[in-house]
Parts: sequence; structure tokens; C-alpha cells
Amino acid sequence: MRPTKEIRITKSKFIKVRCPKCNFEQNIFGKATMRVKCLKCNYQLTRPAASKAKIKAKVLEVFK
Ligand SMILES: [Zn+2]
Repeated sequence: MRPTKEIRITKSKFIKVRCPKCNFEQNIFGKATMRVKCLKCNYQLTRPAASKAKIKAKVLEVFK
């Protein structure tokens, strides 16, 4: 398995991520200023930045 990568989302779109802490999978809306937490363990999955969100979880799929 590849290590968790930090990716940048510049557009608002749905992303399927897997929590690096508890492996719980969930769909999140990758919006720039949104702070998303894992529904199961409360791990912070995204870190809002100025104009884009940083995803700290493993991205499984990006819905276009
Ligand atoms: Zn979790």
C-alpha cells in the first residue's frame, strides 16, 4: 500500500477518502474552506488553506 499523500483540491468536488487512522471510508465534499472530520474517529481529514483544501486522508476516488 502506498503511504498517505497530501493532495490539493482546487475545485469543489466529491472525493472518496479513507481515514488513515481507522480506515473508515466516506465521501467528502472537497471544498476549499471546509474542515472535514472522520465520522468514526474524528480525525481531521482536510486542512483548509487560502484557496484550496488539503486532503490528509487517502483518496480512493474523485467524482467528476
Ligand atoms: Zn477515522
